[in-house]
Amino acid sequence: MISATVVKEFSFNAAHRLEGHDSTCQNLHGHTYTLQVGLYGEIKGDPGATDDGMVMDFGHLAKVVKAEIIERLDHQYLNEVVQFRPTSENMAAWILRRLRDAGLPLQFIRLYETPTSYVEIQERDVPVGSCISCQ
Ligand SMILES: [Zn+2]
Repeated sequence: MISATVVKEFSFNAAHRLEGHDSTCQNLHGHTYTLQVGLYGEIKGDPGATDDGMVMDFGHLAKVVKAEIIERLDHQYLNEVVQFRPTSENMAAWILRRLRDAGLPLQFIRLYETPTSYVEIQERDVPVGSCISCQ
């Protein structure tokens, strides 16, 4: 069997502030976040099936990510959505856990806070049930 990594990119706008941070990040401000979701799995060999030759249909992946993440975070104040400090690292872990719980065969999450700054977190980096992403 052949396996592949499948990646889809999303975008959302959100505001946050990092209380106690020694920079302007302590002030209320916004970002246009870019989220890349990477899945890993075997390429299905099931002639006649709708997902023959795919790891997962991009349309199905988009539907899950929009329902679980984008609709919850877009145009929101992140400090009021989550119960932890909304750094990119913590948000990426939260996103990973939500999508894993939704059944996606995740390999990694990349969350860009700016076009040149991103956090990458691998599925194995977030223990199942780890507390940062309990909310
Ligand atoms: Zn920020």
